Amino acid sequence: MSVKGKLIIVSAPSGAGKDTLLNRAFAENSRLKYAVSATSRAPRDGEVHGVHYYFKTADEFRDMLERGELYEHTSYAGNYYGMPKASVADIVAKGDTAVLKIEVEGAANIRKIFPDAAFVFIAPPSLAVLEQRLRARGTDSESAIQKRLEIAKHELTFAKDYDTIITNDNLDTAVAEFLEAIK
Ligand code: 5GP
Repeated sequence: MSVKGKLIIVSAPSGAGKDTLLNRAFAENSRLKYAVSATSRAPRDGEVHGVHYYFKTADEFRDMLERGELYEHTSYAGNYYGMPKASVADIVAKGDTAVLKIEVEGAANIRKIFPDAAFVFIAPPSLAVLEQRLRARGTDSESAIQKRLEIAKHELTFAKDYDTIITNDNLDTAVAEFLEAIK
């Protein structure tokens, strides 16, 4: 599959504001489509199967893996996450651009398969702001927040491997930078 200009990989520590930023970018560019991942984590309030994720049991996830249906997969904060080949193929087949929201290790694996994809890292203004945002979200327990902060520190060390790093301080500026980066 030729993916030049067709695949955008976005990584960001949890709480960096990536979803808000991407939703704005999607509203401004109708060719951008979200490639839906599979996960074994439980849905959060408001999350819809097939829209935000394909929610799977751990067994169902392992079955997908065994059938070779995923480009990559990882274990993150105790749950499986992976990118179904079909999620990407459906978008690219229509001539649209697939946006893959995946963490840093998955992104590194995707780079081996699709070296021509555009890699964008969204960074929080600081770890303190990240912690505030995770708490404000109110969806994670204290231990889950601590775990996500530890992971975030690790993830920030990967930012240098990306084509573009966007610091999500001011949302309007960050959205404009994102749209410019993927032109
Ligand atoms: P959350 O539980 O906050 O939705 O996602 C946790 C992390 O998993 C985020 O960094 C998100 O980008 C990452 N993630 C979501 N889907 C995938 C995927 O398909 N593959 C990989 N490797 N990471 C994913």
